[in-house]
Amino acid sequence: MKILNLGAGGFIGSHLTTRLLAEGHQVTGVDINGDKLDTLAAHHRFTYLGRDIRDAEGELAELIAASDLVVDLIAHANPSLYVSRPLDVFHLNFSENLKIAETCVRQGKRLIQFSSCEVYGKTVASIVPGLLANPDDPDLALFAEESTPFILGPVNRHRWIYSCAKQLLERVLHAYGLAGELIYTIIRPFNFIGPRIDYLPREGEGVPRVFSHFMGALLHGGPMRLVNGGRQRRCYTYIDDAVDCLLRIVDNPGGVCDRQIFNIGSPANEISIKGLALLMQELYVEQFGGDPFALPPLLEVSGEEFYGDGYDDSDRRIPDISKAEHLLNWRPRFDLRRTVADSMRYYVEQARQR
Ligand code: UDP
Repeated sequence: MKILNLGAGGFIGSHLTTRLLAEGHQVTGVDINGDKLDTLAAHHRFTYLGRDIRDAEGELAELIAASDLVVDLIAHANPSLYVSRPLDVFHLNFSENLKIAETCVRQGKRLIQFSSCEVYGKTVASIVPGLLANPDDPDLALFAEESTPFILGPVNRHRWIYSCAKQLLERVLHAYGLAGELIYTIIRPFNFIGPRIDYLPREGEGVPRVFSHFMGALLHGGPMRLVNGGRQRRCYTYIDDAVDCLLRIVDNPGGVCDRQIFNIGSPANEISIKGLALLMQELYVEQFGGDPFALPPLLEVSGEEFYGDGYDDSDRRIPDISKAEHLLNWRPRFDLRRTVADSMRYYVEQARQR
């Protein structure tokens, strides 16, 4: 297939491009930054175009016309940006992505649109714990594509602008699908991690995702900061598992993914953020020869201190993956320890090569 991969240079995009090429597809990758695609530059079925999609509307329409499938990964997908640049998050994640979707509508092209598990927001247990017999029941955090309502914070907690932008985009695609004008599949990733997820910050420099902060602290020193005590929970999903599922969606046997939304995640890999910090410390000593007496301290900070005003959080989210299991016969294989250890290995090796 001729696949146009928009956002091919990001963490998910670069892993997906590698595997699409290995499967024999022809891929055109568009991204503002192609550093993560360096190793693919010479591949005979790969073309990289360094473009900002905001400045390339006409060219994008031609690229879409020339492809069999469009994969749209373009997004600002980092919580610190939702807080520091909410308008940019809205414009890119909604307005620009909508233009891509509507070009697919006009040209009758199939679209795989990346959304987010952030659309689900928070759990009922986080807002009315006193009304529930067992607020810690995992079923209250088990999010299903077709039945779970979305619970977001108020407008002045502008973290949720990302969630809302993604939600509205999903609803517009759904409406185009209802009108018979678009064949789409929506993906909701649940905390994918792996090699190349983010840059590692040095102390006080930039705000990538939590895994990279903790990795940076282990390798370069500085505390592991636990926002609001690190009680929030996430299900970490190894990128290879995620890409396995994505390839099945690209193949789309018998059109089984048409007009479907898929959660992709590892429900068994749930851990609190504090638990993740401790697990990474343990693995660093056990598997990578870290000095047990020189581990970074854990430091509790508030959300406002860490991210600024407007921060809010998703307390817990567990993917219900029964749809992907049933329709695609897909199941994640990497358990939590392996997911985290294999992700860490890449950064430890990089640091030792320097
Ligand atoms: N977090 C933290 N310490 C950090 C960075 C993030 O405790 O150094 C928390 C953050 O508040 C959130 C969780 O870790 O509850 C996961 O944040 P991340 O940025 O990885 O993305 P998210 O899963 O929220 O999309």
